[in-house]
Amino acid sequence: MPRSPKNSIHGPAPDPIRKGIRWAVVDERARKLGVNEAMFREVNERIEGLAETFGLGGQPLDLICECGSTSCTQQIRMTTADYEALRKEPTLFAVYPGHEIPDVEDIIDRRDGYDVIQKRDGDPARVARETYTRH
Ligand SMILES: [Zn+2]
Repeated sequence: MPRSPKNSIHGPAPDPIRKGIRWAVVDERARKLGVNEAMFREVNERIEGLAETFGLGGQPLDLICECGSTSCTQQIRMTTADYEALRKEPTLFAVYPGHEIPDVEDIIDRRDGYDVIQKRDGDPARVARETYTRH
């Protein structure tokens, strides 16, 4: 699936990403990467929601890579249970192998077809928490 936010079927970024975040004290590059990842996380949230809506909850989810690159078009696949476990932690993201950004995040698990990364403490983790839409 192409991941151009402009003409996406997924609509605009959710409100927590667009407003109310204390950008001034956040490193600009970490912020941009964090916002991109948060946006792809939100797309995946909608993909999961649609799968449930259409009764596909028991099948693997075809998700998009949650790396910080807006030009990334890689897809990743995981079970709903794995996705739910990942999403419980605001600082965890799933990326296609090799798509981690080593200075802002660490690989904490390598799985079949994707890696789980954790945002570093400080600005990267803070952006991930402030854009987290599950509470
Ligand atoms: Zn990627």
